[in-house]
Amino acid sequence: MTRPEDVRERLTEIRPPRSDRDIVTAGMVRRVEVREGEVVVALDPKGLPEPLVRVLVADVERAVGALEGVARVSVAVEPEKGLPAPEPVPGVRDVLAVASAKGGVGKSTVATNLAVALRHRGKTVGLLDADVYGPSLPVLFGLEGRPRVTQSKKILPLEKYGVRAMSMGFFLDDRSPVIWRGPLVMGLVRQFLRDVDWSGCEILVVDLPPGTGDAALTLLQQVPVTGGLVVTTPQDVALLDVERGVSMFEQVRTPVIGVVENMSEYVCPRCGTREPLFGEGGGRKVAERFGVPLLARIPLDPSVREAGDAGKPVVVDRPDHPVSKVFEELAERVLEGMEAAREPAPVLVG
Ligand code: ADP
Repeated sequence: MTRPEDVRERLTEIRPPRSDRDIVTAGMVRRVEVREGEVVVALDPKGLPEPLVRVLVADVERAVGALEGVARVSVAVEPEKGLPAPEPVPGVRDVLAVASAKGGVGKSTVATNLAVALRHRGKTVGLLDADVYGPSLPVLFGLEGRPRVTQSKKILPLEKYGVRAMSMGFFLDDRSPVIWRGPLVMGLVRQFLRDVDWSGCEILVVDLPPGTGDAALTLLQQVPVTGGLVVTTPQDVALLDVERGVSMFEQVRTPVIGVVENMSEYVCPRCGTREPLFGEGGGRKVAERFGVPLLARIPLDPSVREAGDAGKPVVVDRPDHPVSKVFEELAERVLEGMEAAREPAPVLVG
C-alpha cells in the first residue's frame, strides 16, 4: 500500500522550471491523499505561468504513477489565495529589471546605457527609473519637463535618444522634498507601470530601487519580469551583494540573465594602461558560483561619469569609445539572455 510519505518522497525529485528547489521544498505541494490505489496531489503553482504548470502536472502524474501500487493519479491545481498574481504591464512585451544590492555601484549608469544600446539594436525601448528615493534619470538623460497626460488619462513618457523614459524625477523640481513614504512610493510606481503609455514597447528596462529589500521586491512582485540583471563592483565583498541580488530574483521566480561587473579596471586616459582597481575577477567568481553568466566587465573610465553628468550616456556621447563597445556587447548578450529566459526550462524528474 502506498503511503503519502512515499508520494511526497517521490515528489522531491521534481523541480519546477527555473528553480533549484524541488516542489516539496518550494512549498508547492499542498496536500497528498491516498485512497485505494488512487493518489490525489494538490499543487500550489505559486505564480508559475499556465504552460509551465501543465508541464509540472504531467511530471507529477508520471512520477507518482510509476510508484508501485498506484493505479491512478489526480493532480489538483489549487493556488493559495491572497497574493494577487502579477499583472502584465500594458503595451510591454518584456520587462528587464536591473538590480544592485547597494547604491553607487553604477546600476543607473548601466540601465541607461543599456537602454540606448538596445535601441541601437532596433528594439523599441522604454526605461523606467523606479528609484523613487533618488531618481537619476533626469540627470543621466539630461531630461527636464513634465510628461503630458492624455485625455484618456495616460501619462506620455518623455523621449530621448530614441528611448521612452519615465522617472519620478520628472514630477519634482529641485526644491521638492523627496520624503516619500513606502506605500505612497509604491503607488506611484504602480501608476508608472499601469498608466504610462508604453504601447508597442518591446523591452521595458526597469532601474530598480537600490538594494534587495522591500522597495525592489514589492515592485518585482507586481509585474511579470522576463529577466533580471545584477550589477556589482568587483570587490570580494561584492560576492555577498550578488548573492543577495540573485536570491531576490529567485524569490519572485525571475530568471537572472546575468551579472554585470562595473568599474572593473581603471584604464589610464593618457597611456591606456589597464590597472585592476579592486583586484581581479570578483564578478567572474560570482558567475561561477551562481551559475549565471558574467555578461560584461565595464571598466572604470572617466568618460562614463563625464558623459552621465552631461546628460548623455557614453554610448551616445562617445560611441566609438571602447567602453561604449562594452555596453553595446552587453546589449547583445542581454537580448540573447532574454530570448532564453522566455523559453521554459525543462522540468527534471529523477
Ligand atoms: P547607482 O545607480 O548604482 O547608485 P550610478 O549609476 O548613479 O550608481 O553611478 C554612481 C556614480 O559612478 C556616478 O557618478 C556615475 O557616473 C559613476 N560611474 C558609474 N559607472 C562608472 C564607470 N564604469 N566608470 C566611471 N564612473 C562610473
